[in-house]
Amino acid sequence: MAGFFSRSARATAEEDATFDSPPLRPIVASDAARRVELLDSFETAGLGWFWATDAQGRIIYLSQGAARKLGWSDDEVIGKSLGELFIPEKIDDPDKPERPLAFLLRARNSISQLNVRLAIEDKEVWWEIAGKPQFDDKDRFTGYRGSAKDITAVREQQRDERRMAQYDPVTGLANRQRMGQRLTEMLKAYRNSKRSCALMILDLDRFQHVNDSLGRAAGDELLKQVATRAGRIVGTKGEIGRMSDDAFQIVLPDIDDRGALGDLGQRLIQMVSQPYIVSGSRAIIGASIGVAIAPYDGLDTEELTTAADLALQASKVGGRGQYRFYSSDLKDGAKNRRQIEEDLRDAIDNHQLAMHYQPLVCSKTHMVRGCEALMRWTHPDRGQIAPSDFIPVAEEIGCIRQMGEWALNEVCRQATGWPMDLRVAVNVSAMQFSQDDFPGIVKKALAESGLAPDRLELEITESVFLGDTGRTQRMFGELKELGVKLALDDFGTGYSSLSYLRNAPFDKIKIDQSFVRGATEEGNNNAAILSAIVSLADALNMETVAEGVEAKDELDLLTERGATLIQGHIFSRALSSEDFLERLREGKLKYEPRGPAKYRAARKTVFRRISLIHEDSRYKVVMRNLSKTGAMIEGLREVPLGTQVVLDLGGGQLAVATVRRSKGAMLGVEFETPLISDGADGLCTRHRVSPYQIEAAGRPLAALPQDPYSLIMAEQIGANARKKFIEVEVGAPKPGSGY
Ligand code: C2E
Ligand code: MG
Ligand code: MG
Repeated sequence: MAGFFSRSARATAEEDATFDSPPLRPIVASDAARRVELLDSFETAGLGWFWATDAQGRIIYLSQGAARKLGWSDDEVIGKSLGELFIPEKIDDPDKPERPLAFLLRARNSISQLNVRLAIEDKEVWWEIAGKPQFDDKDRFTGYRGSAKDITAVREQQRDERRMAQYDPVTGLANRQRMGQRLTEMLKAYRNSKRSCALMILDLDRFQHVNDSLGRAAGDELLKQVATRAGRIVGTKGEIGRMSDDAFQIVLPDIDDRGALGDLGQRLIQMVSQPYIVSGSRAIIGASIGVAIAPYDGLDTEELTTAADLALQASKVGGRGQYRFYSSDLKDGAKNRRQIEEDLRDAIDNHQLAMHYQPLVCSKTHMVRGCEALMRWTHPDRGQIAPSDFIPVAEEIGCIRQMGEWALNEVCRQATGWPMDLRVAVNVSAMQFSQDDFPGIVKKALAESGLAPDRLELEITESVFLGDTGRTQRMFGELKELGVKLALDDFGTGYSSLSYLRNAPFDKIKIDQSFVRGATEEGNNNAAILSAIVSLADALNMETVAEGVEAKDELDLLTERGATLIQGHIFSRALSSEDFLERLREGKLKYEPRGPAKYRAARKTVFRRISLIHEDSRYKVVMRNLSKTGAMIEGLREVPLGTQVVLDLGGGQLAVATVRRSKGAMLGVEFETPLISDGADGLCTRHRVSPYQIEAAGRPLAALPQDPYSLIMAEQIGANARKKFIEVEVGAPKPGSGY
């Protein structure tokens, strides 16, 4: 306490130590002069200030130091009301409403430890004030007497600590804890006001690779850039937080339109996937996104996060670089995937894998010029499983190397038995390519089968360039030395950089089917891209293969633009090894184009039992194919053209449609509003039946059940309602057909 005694007081204390102690002189309550001196020294030391107001609330005293802090002279302060010294405080935290100063003063309440901010413009200074109302002997209010102290530094420190606990130090974004808190509060509030809220989880692909190869500092720098890019796209539409090493969460209030969310997801993926420069090096990462929407897919934080996570897992399994909406099928999908995982390990040993061959046909002569080997898996219970479903799983669980080696041996062995020297292409996963002994495996397959090396072509995708450049170059060199050919698969879908092409010894570029699709439609610039790729390949002395050609107009366009080879259903699907061999033996080397004259909006063949609603009746029908604009339905007889129906596509997805074709039990319907992409190759409706609607129909609020429509329409749609149309039983397709 000695610090705030005045100088003269301290001198006396020192003298006390050297001389005989003079008599003790305590400051008694009646010694006003010495008490004032004591308070004076307290004020001068800046340890605290005093203030007083009159009965009208006007300041009649304020310690000098305090007035100086405010930049006011004594004269300016006197006569102001106490409230004028401070900026009225906003009540930030609804759980702890702090009564504002004006309220306390008006009510003549005591003020204790009230934090107030000084009314100074360009500086943030905080005081903690206390005060007591004073009353005279007739109990009349005479004003306040109070004290104040500066707590700016303490508050700053507290704020920093709070920030540290709520924000991620690397990116400055909200951390997992804050996001969780925000989401919980929001979902609770939104439930009451019947609003919706979307949650996206964005996961970076190959971030670990950057961290490992360029170091942690570069990894941190990259994350900062990701946060900035994502922030630019999300803007004020939502809040972004960092959840873990390489996962971000985005909370988007008041959005349930899956069309808008899909567009946002797509833009985020595109932006995040552009190259970065970190620590002077170029880095490329990708992103996958899972989307879930409250209240449809979950009501509380846990339910919604689990749903978004499942959607994220699905987008990763689907090949990464995609967004995916949650749907209740994904729960089955996750189970399905585990099943695939378990069964895949034994697939080779149990002889369930087979190599099929799809011809590559010369665009000018329509003669077969080569083929691509494509893996097929026949599951004992589930029939054919598509490579797009099992190859990513094989990559994840690490058995792709073993499967790839098996494929290579199998193809080399079969190709040596063909009656002509046809070249055969084998797909090589980036994971196989990263194996140091990969050239050795190829060499062995060639040696054991006796296949001439130049008949073997290896198809690799652009993702191999993400590895160590030096290693990749060495690998190319060793493979070329063996005499095998190299093709760049799915060109244009990955991390295409023309510099890759300059340094890599490819013999062939395979143009991905996404460029062929729609190339013949007016206003689509795929045709221009196709021409550019073909001339680039010509200049580099490489052949071009157009993948996935289905329609005659596509074939014409590609032939005209100069693609060397055509691969697609227009000539042939992949054939079993026996069928392919038979064609070769019979010398049927020329392929006839067979397919629709024009490309139509992708119509997916499906077999899905759905319901069709017409007036008060609900019919069981089978959907045969589906596109954005319409569907083919089987199971109702003699439905007049122009009839308005509603298709219940499941999970609360209702699509209003008009019957445009009707023949026997087949109906062609056109949707009133086109469907949108679900991020994978499926389609979905923009909107769904809202759980709030179900709640309004008297049910408890819950995430969407499988068949929400029947809940809200329970009364209207009775089993007894007289049905206008005749239902026809539709049998299940044979297993494996339509594949
Ligand atoms: P990819 O290498 O790009 O193979 C071309 C895909 O396009 C094949 O799909 C083929 O059946 C399909 N396709 C060909 N013409 C058409 C057409 O006109 N229309 C349509 N819609 N599709 C057409 P598939 O057999 O389902 O294989 C998918 C992917 O799985 C392949 O894409 C490849 O990346 C991977 N894959 C297949 N077999 C193997 C393998 O043995 N090893 C590895 N690592 N990957 C494989
Ligand atoms: Mg391929
Ligand atoms: Mg391809």
